[in-house]
Amino acid sequence: MFDTIFLDRDGTINDVGYGYINGLSDFHFYDYAFEALDILKGHAKNFIIVTNQSGLSTGRVSIDPLNEIHQFVTEEFEKRDLPLRKIYFADDYNEGFNAIRKPGIGMFLQAKEDFNVDLKNSVMIGDSIVDVQAGERAEMKTIFLLSGYGKSHLEDVKKECKPNLIANDLLHAAKEIELI
Ligand SMILES: [Mg+2]
Repeated sequence: MFDTIFLDRDGTINDVGYGYINGLSDFHFYDYAFEALDILKGHAKNFIIVTNQSGLSTGRVSIDPLNEIHQFVTEEFEKRDLPLRKIYFADDYNEGFNAIRKPGIGMFLQAKEDFNVDLKNSVMIGDSIVDVQAGERAEMKTIFLLSGYGKSHLEDVKKECKPNLIANDLLHAAKEIELI
């Protein structure tokens, strides 16, 4: 049983769509998302979503629609008794090791402080190389997904990272998480 499963947002639980997601009408959960989350719920005490939304700093994403989307996501998790503790987002382009933006580990350190998360007994799941890099930096287990932008990151991930699992999508990850 893991402490926390950290989930990236775009390309992990919802479709990446076409460019920036800046409104509820652009936001679509993958059709398998809740089947996957229901399985994953059996493997961890908590879910936390960690999402880079640097479009906030350039005006491509606005805070009100972002909050509206996250309210919607929170309610959809609640409806299904999925223990989502919080959605953290990074609103800038800062890079450093401890930056909020992934591959910085700022959101993970904040979650550790807020919810006493045992990072070493937690997993990061996402479709970008930065998800795997952040997970590795925070000494977590990592699962890299080929959904979303995953396929375009695959070669670099193989070169630069050692994910514990590479899965087609969140549903495959859920079915294989006991192997990691
Ligand atoms: Mg993503």
